[in-house]
Amino acid sequence: MKITDHIKNAKGETLFSFEIIPPLKGHRIQELYDNIDPLMEFRPPFIDVTTSREEYVYIERDGLLDKKLTRMRPGTVGICASIKHKYNVDTVPHLLCGGFSKEETEYVLVDCHYLGIDNVMALRGDAMKDEKYFRPTKGGHDYAVGLVKQLNDLNCGNYLHDAVETEHCADFCIGVAGYPEKHLEAPSLQSDLKRLKEKVDAGAHYVVTQMFFDNQKYFKFVDAAKDMGIHVPIIPGIKPIAVKRHLQLLPQVFRIDIPQDLIDAVDDCENNKAVRQVGVEWCIEQSKELKSAGVPVLHYYSMGKSDNIKAIAEKVF
Ligand SMILES: Cc1cc2nc3c(=O)[nH]c(=O)nc-3n(C[C@H](O)[C@H](O)[C@H](O)COP(=O)(O)OP(=O)(O)OC[C@H]3O[C@@H](n4cnc5c(N)ncnc54)[C@H](O)[C@@H]3O)c2cc1C
Repeated sequence: MKITDHIKNAKGETLFSFEIIPPLKGHRIQELYDNIDPLMEFRPPFIDVTTSREEYVYIERDGLLDKKLTRMRPGTVGICASIKHKYNVDTVPHLLCGGFSKEETEYVLVDCHYLGIDNVMALRGDAMKDEKYFRPTKGGHDYAVGLVKQLNDLNCGNYLHDAVETEHCADFCIGVAGYPEKHLEAPSLQSDLKRLKEKVDAGAHYVVTQMFFDNQKYFKFVDAAKDMGIHVPIIPGIKPIAVKRHLQLLPQVFRIDIPQDLIDAVDDCENNKAVRQVGVEWCIEQSKELKSAGVPVLHYYSMGKSDNIKAIAEKVF
């Protein structure tokens, strides 16, 4: 079922959902199940599964370093299929422009269609680890809006190179990313919102936000998006701080602010167990306020660990 239909059917109730990341290559899917199991009692209508970009590894051979491309966490669509059928829940694979040609994307989408996956997140992806700026992959899209257009074309039965006559067109519900504190490369929040509007005009059906720790940023973002003519659901994505290092890492990687009260509370912690508890408490307060404001879904970035998300959900749902 489409995310937008889940939201409609909820009739104003806030839904619970979360995002997981595929295990490292060679690990077992049971590790994922062990973390999903405790969250199923909160009846998520959908679970997102991220896609990781390829990266370079350097292998030493005869004293020389051989540079190879690899993907450390492959398997997004396979994981989506397996979770969908094990738990009878919708799954949302993340699609990236980076690392995929348009043809490769089409094949992934054909797989999704066969597997009965009705929703996808269309994302550009970040620059590769060794690179400063995002470089489009040869034959791929420059920006997420291109991916949205490709998805929309496929929904209309238009494959890239083949005239396919079918009564069973794909009908993907398309999610895109939004940034309450603006995307790190955008020159201003206003210009980033214009880009978001382009994605929605190209066919995106809903938006999921980057994490934020101050709800006011989300509320202002939603208002500004509405003023710009964006009227699709904007789902807040939130994450509990889990280790002290997040205070430096999250602003550095995502260019987001952390409120001073939260910084002070984390600074006062003697160890990461205490930090995890502070993160949970902050996220409970954030969730309660967002829920009473009537957000359609509370979407949690679980990073594959469920104990803190469960502790939050128990107090909120
Ligand atoms: C909910 C969510 C889920 C995510 N999941 C993943 C994941 O699974 N895997 C992963 O690798 N990353 C993921 N990301 C991170 C995402 O890939 C990065 O934030 C990436 O840098 C931008 O992706 P985007 O889809 O927002 O890009 P875009 O919408 O393409 O925007 C990227 C930047 O380009 C600008 N821009 C857009 N269009 C144009 C244009 N035509 N001309 C000039 N500038 C333009 C925008 O303002 C923005 O600054 C996720 C992010 C979010 C919020």
